[in-house]
Amino acid sequence: MYALTFDDGPGPDTSALLDVLRAAGVRATFFLLGRNLEEAPWCGDPARARALAVRAAREGHVLGNHTWSHLRPDRWLEVAADLKRGEAVVRAVRAEAGLPDGPVPFRLPYGVRLVEQTLPAPSGTLGAVTLDPRLPVLASVGRAHLHWTSDFEDWALGPAEGGKLAAKMIAHVEQCIALGIDAVLDLHDSGTGSSFGYQRKATVEGVRQLIAEGQRRKWRSFTVP
Ligand SMILES: [Zn+2]
Repeated sequence: MYALTFDDGPGPDTSALLDVLRAAGVRATFFLLGRNLEEAPWCGDPARARALAVRAAREGHVLGNHTWSHLRPDRWLEVAADLKRGEAVVRAVRAEAGLPDGPVPFRLPYGVRLVEQTLPAPSGTLGAVTLDPRLPVLASVGRAHLHWTSDFEDWALGPAEGGKLAAKMIAHVEQCIALGIDAVLDLHDSGTGSSFGYQRKATVEGVRQLIAEGQRRKWRSFTVP
């Protein structure tokens, strides 16, 4: 089995992605960015952004939280507030879609990382690399990070590279089958706009091809959690 998960949305290609998923009868998990809903810098139209997320919820997809502003891991002191701010937006969208209130799945921006920190030491300070300092923060607020079995750097692909992405995803699902585990695929239907913009045409086409190949091979899809 494989799970499709999409981070950073919504964005300009979310609508096309939802069309592909609906046509195939596949449900996915969307870890939304509060800012891409409430400020929607990718389109300048928060109502349009919100309508996309409501549509995803009504079509049976799981809506999760990816924080409000996608802060880098070294800004870990701010992560609890940013998590709660993003979660409130997702809860409001789910309510608008007519879904009952319940736990909101969560995924850390950038996933679990090693983070360089300056720590207090007896003779001043000490530069150190530590396991992600956001993890104890998550534990303290009772949330868990939902990781993936692979990402594919789909945010860096050109618009015509959907076939290349599909081949990488198919190879990864095959690896997982060999290991006896299910695949959790980390993809992106938008971004923060900072380095790679918001367009994700290769992701939409790659997902279309993966689903078609998966149907031929009798693979089944599931949603996380
Ligand atoms: Zn992200």
